[in-house]
Amino acid sequence: MASPDSNKPYQPGEVYQPGEVIFQEGEPGDCAYIIEEGEVNLFMLVAGQSKLIAKLKAGHLLGEMCLIDHQLRSATAIAVAPTRLIVIPGQRFQEKIASCDQFIMLLVKVLLDRYREMRARLENISRIVDEDRLNQTLYAPNHYVSFQDESLALTTRQLEAENALREAFTQRQFELFYQPILALQDNALAGCEALIRWRHPVRGLVPPIEFIGLAEETGLIVPMGQWIIEQACAVWRQLEAEGIVLDFIGINLSSKQFEPLDFVDQTQALFIQQMMAPRHIKFEITESILMANPMQTVTILNDLKQLGCHIAIDDFGTGYSSFSYLHRFPIDTLKIDKSFVSTMLSNPKSFQIVKTLCLLARSIGLVVVAEGIESEEEHHALVEMGVDYGQGYYYAKPLPYEAFRQFIIAQQAG
Ligand code: C2E
Ligand code: CA
Ligand code: CA
Repeated sequence: MASPDSNKPYQPGEVYQPGEVIFQEGEPGDCAYIIEEGEVNLFMLVAGQSKLIAKLKAGHLLGEMCLIDHQLRSATAIAVAPTRLIVIPGQRFQEKIASCDQFIMLLVKVLLDRYREMRARLENISRIVDEDRLNQTLYAPNHYVSFQDESLALTTRQLEAENALREAFTQRQFELFYQPILALQDNALAGCEALIRWRHPVRGLVPPIEFIGLAEETGLIVPMGQWIIEQACAVWRQLEAEGIVLDFIGINLSSKQFEPLDFVDQTQALFIQQMMAPRHIKFEITESILMANPMQTVTILNDLKQLGCHIAIDDFGTGYSSFSYLHRFPIDTLKIDKSFVSTMLSNPKSFQIVKTLCLLARSIGLVVVAEGIESEEEHHALVEMGVDYGQGYYYAKPLPYEAFRQFIIAQQAG
């Protein structure tokens, strides 16, 4: 009899004849199987007797349980027709498990745990004749996987953080700040970048670095992203109503926002609803978004361009920095990352990188924004290089709406 879990490993294509054991209850398992062809019966020992518990056919999975919780095989699998199997090696299975959502993993573990405990109890019950002992067994405290277990505390904390974030969104605890962007040749205010903040009732102002990742993981970034665009448009209209018209407002996009197939339609509907001219919108996307799914991204960006929006590459120089995509994607603006700007006066290499990026951008008709300008010296160096726009604490930090409005008024007065 062939038994892949004991001495003789299963060879792909090998056929189990009716009656042959595929694996045996109680032995360790290092793989799972999919039945490619044939039939397999699963048996379990109940009160010392072998009982048929499942009849499996082509396409069914078997032997997966012990790989999830590293227990011994919980059943014996016997071919009942000539059977061919596809082996899923344990390591491959573990990789799949490791890459799945932690909560799903936890759920699988809990279900498996409950199943095993229930099975052990049923087995005990079938042997008990005395009623007191039967009750003791039925109502004995269980040892299920608990969300308070050390190893699961992380998942629990993650769930709490997710719930808090969703709740905060429902409670409207998010707001946009606006960081001015100036035309460097004449220091005139040209536009701004919208930057999200979480006004936490206890923690105060929480920066996006602490929650954008989680919002992306949970998919909350999709409704949140729509709200950001809506809010940015509303503020634009509010300023317009006061006679304040800037050239553009930058809005950051996450790759997850591109996943709903109707992202562009939804965005267009929003512009119409908010009476916003798309030519004032500059969507900021990072290099990693471009590279994650280039085919889909190029279509979406072309559609956004078609609406009239502008596209900026954010944090340029920190990612792949492949110049080829500057041609492939419909990009208007290159935002040089603050890590280059902040080191360019002390590090000649950074200085050369910034200079070269400016030349390159200009030669292919891109507008350049330098990010993270913090000093007058940096400002002057960038003006000399001919950089179009500047953004940084030197001019202004990201400001809440009213402070931003005052900044504009002061600029216009001066
Ligand atoms: P980012 O798009 O690169 O935004 C610029 C960040 O640099 C902002 O941090 C801004 O406050 C900061 N910054 C601006 N000038 C200076 C400066 O002179 N010196 C220094 N040290 N920092 C400066 P913030 O607001 O904390 O945002 C961090 C990141 O969070 C953003 O990086 C962006 O990736 C993400 N983010 C912010 N708002 C949104 C949003 O509405 N949607 C999405 N998807 N992501 C957002
Ligand atoms: Ca940005
Ligand atoms: Ca940036």
